[in-house]
Amino acid sequence: MTLANKKTAVSTAHIKLNDPFLLKTDAYIDGGWIKGAKRFNVTNPATGELLAEVADLGADETTQAVEVAHKAWPQWRDMIASDRANLLRRWYDLQLEHKDDLAMLMTCEQGKPLAQAKGEVVYGANYTEWYAEESKRSYGDTMPSNDPDKRIVVIKQSVGVVGAITPWNFPHAMITRKISPALAAGCTVVIKPSEETPLTALALMELANRAGIPAGVINMITTSDAKAVGGVLTSNPLVRKISFTGSTAVGKLLMKQSADTVKKISLELGGNGAFIVFDDANLENAAQDLCTLKFSNAGQVCTNANRVYVQDGVYEAFTKLFKEKVAALKMGNGLQEATQMGPVINQKAIDKIDSLVKDAVQDGAKVIHGGQVSDLGALFYLPTILADVTEKMRIRTEEIFGPVAPLYRFKTEEEVIAAANDTPYGLANYLYSESVTRQWKVGEALESGIISVNTTKYGAVQAPFGGYKESGLGREGGKYGLEEFLETKFMMVQL
Ligand code: ADP
Repeated sequence: MTLANKKTAVSTAHIKLNDPFLLKTDAYIDGGWIKGAKRFNVTNPATGELLAEVADLGADETTQAVEVAHKAWPQWRDMIASDRANLLRRWYDLQLEHKDDLAMLMTCEQGKPLAQAKGEVVYGANYTEWYAEESKRSYGDTMPSNDPDKRIVVIKQSVGVVGAITPWNFPHAMITRKISPALAAGCTVVIKPSEETPLTALALMELANRAGIPAGVINMITTSDAKAVGGVLTSNPLVRKISFTGSTAVGKLLMKQSADTVKKISLELGGNGAFIVFDDANLENAAQDLCTLKFSNAGQVCTNANRVYVQDGVYEAFTKLFKEKVAALKMGNGLQEATQMGPVINQKAIDKIDSLVKDAVQDGAKVIHGGQVSDLGALFYLPTILADVTEKMRIRTEEIFGPVAPLYRFKTEEEVIAAANDTPYGLANYLYSESVTRQWKVGEALESGIISVNTTKYGAVQAPFGGYKESGLGREGGKYGLEEFLETKFMMVQL
């Protein structure tokens, strides 16, 4: 495979859609498509081809979108919940109806294999369906009063305009996981997708429009100037809630910027997850699951296994099994059916991954598979296994966000719990053991919002997704996700 890095004229022929009207390149404000004065390029990471030139908006248009969303809020908020539910349900139906096109856009701009992209569309759409139902259930409370002539009632109300910022690794699901509960709660939204993956995001806007979601309720700002747009979203007093998924560094910045107007805030940030294989684990399942988890989306997943801890007695056997499975992985362009792993997103990602691997090797780690860029192209990093990794290496503390599995050896349960928790992050941890007692003991001792026991498929729209410590604030999914977009009002009524 060769890379065509030169900037050719935009040829949408690269993206074969059943419904070509889903290829949108303008931003979406107040139900209309906004060209803006400038454009930025979106390229295919597998081939380097220029896919589209997208509207490059800035601070002024963001302020305008916030005002539009604020104006649209009362009508949306006051709509009866079942009417909002019907519109969300229609949006869900359209996402599934256009699953193949959404997945095609995603694979072209993001690189993940088509099967994984389709899986994401279904996962993402399920959030819309679930919150369509949940919008009817933002229940309040009553409590007995101390005064016979007073009544205490608690009601839930939408917080107002939501500013949402999403990453490129899950270009569909990270949007629906925020917008669906926000809309269900009665909020209106201004959303900024990643500059790497605006096409999937804009197609979702087109489908929201077709679903009949009123003008101004969802607005999307595409931009190459995240800082300017983020600055408006976090400082404008009309925005009452910030919901962000991305790096811990940017999350901290947005939190600081939001402090002056005391916004409600939800953050889904980085992770440094441990994947723990105990002596009594089913090694075959653990090795297979690790291979699937570690290399899906080329390892660019915040809940990924950043550290693989294998107990002494099974270290050699597990490593052999895992290596066999990794060696059988098929890497390539995500549009080819056999592909199991695609490229990473950009050169910056390659540089970071490669420097982490090189540093580890310099400090004594052994490459037992991969360890370099493949000859498929500049953004294809070989699925990599590092053995003899130690707690002192840089790869131990930094999020890899790429297809590299570092293996650590441990002796006791206590030792591995302490090691796994020795990180400022706390998003997801995995443990493999056939002992139910150990599953509970270790699961309760690990400091993370998600614990996955003998499986890596923890994804469930009804469950709360989110992190402890510097991995974030708040939860997405389930009843917890709706709560993030609601205020709690207590009314004391004198009879
Ligand atoms: P990654 O390194 O994985 O791209 P980022 O945190 O940089 O993670 O990106 C996640 C999202 O945050 C993207 O939509 C990106 O454009 C946005 N972003 C990056 N920097 C800023 C910033 N200073 N203010 C607001 N949004 C930002």
